[in-house]
Amino acid sequence: MPAARLAGTLIEPEWPVPGRVRALVTTRAGGVSEPPYESFNLAYHVGDAAARVRRNRRRLLTIAGIDRVQWLDQEHGRCVLAASADTAAGGPITADASWTMSRNLGLAVLVADCVPLLLANEDATLVAVVHCGWRGTVAGIVGATLDALPETPGRLVAWLGPGVCADCYEVGAEVRDAIDPDERQAVLVDEGPASGGDRKWRMDLPALIVARLRRSGVRRIVSSSACTICDSRYYSYRRDGRTGRFAALIWLEGSGH
Ligand SMILES: [Zn+2]
Repeated sequence: MPAARLAGTLIEPEWPVPGRVRALVTTRAGGVSEPPYESFNLAYHVGDAAARVRRNRRRLLTIAGIDRVQWLDQEHGRCVLAASADTAAGGPITADASWTMSRNLGLAVLVADCVPLLLANEDATLVAVVHCGWRGTVAGIVGATLDALPETPGRLVAWLGPGVCADCYEVGAEVRDAIDPDERQAVLVDEGPASGGDRKWRMDLPALIVARLRRSGVRRIVSSSACTICDSRYYSYRRDGRTGRFAALIWLEGSGH
């Protein structure tokens, strides 16, 4: 991918995987959508004009140099899709993670504060993408994905993309209660009661994802440390409300399938 086309528009993860593993994260820049979706919105479900989303998705494929992407209808659950050219041709499938050993098949998740998690094995024969919001992470989407992969966790490398950081993520009792008591100390900071209101916590969602990866035996984990609320290059649902979604995309480069 020419560096000039990436500048200011796309992020390429820096993580220790073979060059055949390709990945990128989009930002708000470089597309055709109008406010409040300006400009590289890749989600149909947020109220943007479908024709603009289609153009943005085509542009993403052109930039990546692939013909096909497996998009998902994400529902904060723990469904994992084994993606292939056939499943991708059939349109979005309800799941929060996908994996493939097929080459030149893009796997994407759409996010705006949830953390996109990328996985690849050290042989560069397998890639996966996971949509990690707090609900899906608590529900076990990370472990469900690792269970589905035909690879041992010790041979995987993980990369956490831009998502809400601990400083920006205030949660209430319903989130706190959903988290395993064992994990609360590592991922929650008690802020006490808001003035005249309910008790609040700050939640470190990336730390919860890392804890789940480690628990499953993944040792090589790289975090982008980018926050979608702090960094206005990204869409943020918590900051902006009605807004677009950016994508994390991963694929195996190469000829054949
Ligand atoms: Zn932040």
